[in-house]
This record gives sequence, structure tokens and C-alpha cells, in this order.
Amino acid sequence: MNNRLKSLFVTSLLAAGLLQVSAQSASAASGVVSGVLMFYQNQGNFCPLGRDCSGAKYTWLDYQRPQPFRKARIYVRRASDNAILGQGMTDAAGFFSITWSDPSVGIFTPVDASLDYLGEHADGRFIIAGPNPTPGVNPPLPAGAPIVPLQSPFTALPGFTWLNFPTYGSAAANSFIAMLHDGAYRMWADSLSQSFRMRTLFWGLEIQAFDNSLCTTSCAVGDSNVVVIDSTTSAMSPQARVMHEMGHIASYLANTNWTLYDATRTVLALDYSANGFGWNLASPENESAGWEEAVATHYADIALYFPWADVPYSCLNTGACPDAASIINVPLEPSPNCALPGSNLVVGNHMQYHWDNYDSEIDYVGEIISEPMFDVVNVVSTYSSGSGNGAGIARIDEFWNAARTAGDDVHGRSTQDFHNRWLALGTVSSLNLAANCGSGGD
Ligand SMILES: [Zn+2]
Repeated sequence: MNNRLKSLFVTSLLAAGLLQVSAQSASAASGVVSGVLMFYQNQGNFCPLGRDCSGAKYTWLDYQRPQPFRKARIYVRRASDNAILGQGMTDAAGFFSITWSDPSVGIFTPVDASLDYLGEHADGRFIIAGPNPTPGVNPPLPAGAPIVPLQSPFTALPGFTWLNFPTYGSAAANSFIAMLHDGAYRMWADSLSQSFRMRTLFWGLEIQAFDNSLCTTSCAVGDSNVVVIDSTTSAMSPQARVMHEMGHIASYLANTNWTLYDATRTVLALDYSANGFGWNLASPENESAGWEEAVATHYADIALYFPWADVPYSCLNTGACPDAASIINVPLEPSPNCALPGSNLVVGNHMQYHWDNYDSEIDYVGEIISEPMFDVVNVVSTYSSGSGNGAGIARIDEFWNAARTAGDDVHGRSTQDFHNRWLALGTVSSLNLAANCGSGGD
């Protein structure tokens, strides 16, 4: 053997040995994938171009553009079989950094993967689920089916991979689940989380999407901790849909003295509402329902506007809140405002009473109240148990008869009761109530 051949022989032996060592000791590809996860924002209820949007949390600038997909648990899954290789969460700016490992391939092997959302809020306040398999059974409402995951395919490189703004949905194809997550996230982050009581009690809400067999315009069931969103159209109208329904859950959790499951949207609640299952901002309503619908909407309004907002709106549509007031679109300023039919039973008037209490604008002489969101929760938390009437006491089940078999006081647990209870705790909101058409409750 000449020297050259000898050298080749030794080299190949070495190479064989090295290969053997690497095959035995390092058998997994692994790495870190980072980026900013986005979704295509196509929800309505924003403050439009041309309006004074100071104090608005959601404006035309964010509409029909990719926006950060915030506070979501996300997974790196292998494309071939959806095996989970790693998991993490996006932060409030959509940023994520996930460590992953795939033991089925060699150390230097890129892996076809996807960045997947399975419906989970990062902090566990809510999950998005599919439709209830047996709708109409109520209560309790059975769990919904798993959603079809949102997926963004990519190649996971061993080492570090930067993903350049992967986006769920597009202008051509809405991602309704992503929008629902965003609406629910904002309701939590920008409204309900302001209450310590909510931070303590509001966990694991299941938002079922999409199903209109239980309720045709979305609904909430307190004791089952479920919100049902009826349609993909409703996913584009957060203020009066997912946010409003989460507001009902917050209303339910505001007081744990309930002896009945959530009276707002159950089979027994058919006689609760003057209009059956359906109301609008201008409809005369039993005060019990008027109070409940107004306060649920109020929490949603807070999610979209700061107390110093110049032109806040509460609306139901899939685009900008229009300028012209209507039965589904109400400007919350200015006060006093009895522009809606001058009834003390109208839902929209009660909503405006709440806004007038919350806002930091001085709308008229003597108006000094600017109460934080959590005050409403805290006042309601002091309602007594029971179904009787009582000035200044307020009963959580006042609408119901003693046996809770039927409603015997359709104007019970009203806006007037809230006012009275608040007064007993030391805050006078009489001017604000009068300025917004009063209350037909007792
Ligand atoms: Zn409602």
C-alpha cells in the first residue's frame, strides 16, 4: 500500500467511526423558533376615519390590516402527523419564542412543521371551542367540540428560525376563530381584568363557535361558564357579540349569591325579557333584562373606549360604527341624552347611564362621577341573596318568585336597584340616572 492509499484508508475508517458516534449520541433535531404572530383584522365596531377617535382603543388604523395575535398558547407541530414538538405563547405584542425538539430525525435535519393555535388563551381566561354536539341541553351546557386549529406552515431549522410575521387569515379569507380570539382577548385585557374580583373568578370560559341552534344572536350561560357565538358574522361584531356575552359572564360572576343559574339567557328566562330572546338598543324592555343587557354592553364599551373618549359608540355591525344613531348603533356621548325613545325602560338609556358614570367628561353642571369599571362589579357584589324587593338592599334574584319557578317582578334587579344600592354605599348617581331617562325599576 502506498502512502496515499494508506492515508485514504485511515480517513475512511475515521469517518465511519464518527458517523457511528453521532448516530448513537445525538438523535434529535432541535431549535428555537421566534417571530411575531399576526392575524388579519376584519372586525367591525372601530372608530372610523373622519371621527374624533381620541380615547378609542380600536380605530380604522387597525382595521383590515394584519394585527398581532395576542396572548395565545401556540404549538410547533410536525407537519406529517401533528405531533407536538414544542409549545409556548404569544405576548401582548404577538411575539413568541418556542423551543422545539424532534427525536425522530437527525440533529441536522430540517423539519416540516407548523405554528398552530388550538383555541387557548395564554393565561387560561378563555378557550375557543367548536359547536356544542348536543345544543339545547341547558343547563349545564356540554363542552363544545375542538376547533379546527389555525395553522401556519414553516420549516423548522435546527438551531434558530425566525418567522417573518406568520399570519392567520387574509383579506381574501377571514380567520373567524382568530378574530374571535382577538375580541375575547381585548374584552379581558382592556375591560374585565380591571376588576380584582374578575381576576380572581373569571377563568376557563368556553366560547363555542359557531352554533345558532341554542340562540340565534349569541348567548351566555353563567353557571356552565359558556358563551355561544352564533355565526361567523358575529365574530366580526365583537362589541355586541363576544364582548357583550363575556359581559354577561362578568355580571354573573359579580355576585355569587345566585340561587338560580344565570337568569339572563336560559330556558326559564323566556319571560324575563319583554321581547323574548332578542332586544335592541332602542327597545322598551323589562327592567330586569334592561339592566342585565345594559351592564353586559357597558363592560364591552369599556373594552373599546377609555373614559375620556370624545365620541364613543356602542354598536352592532361588521364595519365602522356609523354616525347615524339607530336601534343597533348608539353614541354614548353626549349626556344628558334621552334622544332614544324617552322611556325609562329602554336598554340604550341604561347603557348611557353606565357610561355617564364611567366617563371622565363633565357633561353637565353637577356631574362629578367618574367611576372605574370595577366599581360596577363591586356594587353588584354587595347585592343580597334572595328574591324579595328592598330599597337600598337589592336582591340578586329579585326578578324571581321565592321558589324560583317563575318571574314575579319583571322590573326587579333594575338600574334603579343598582342606583339605590350604590347610594347605600355612599355614591350619589341620581343626576346621572335622571340625565339618561331614569329607570322604571323599583
Ligand atoms: Zn345580552
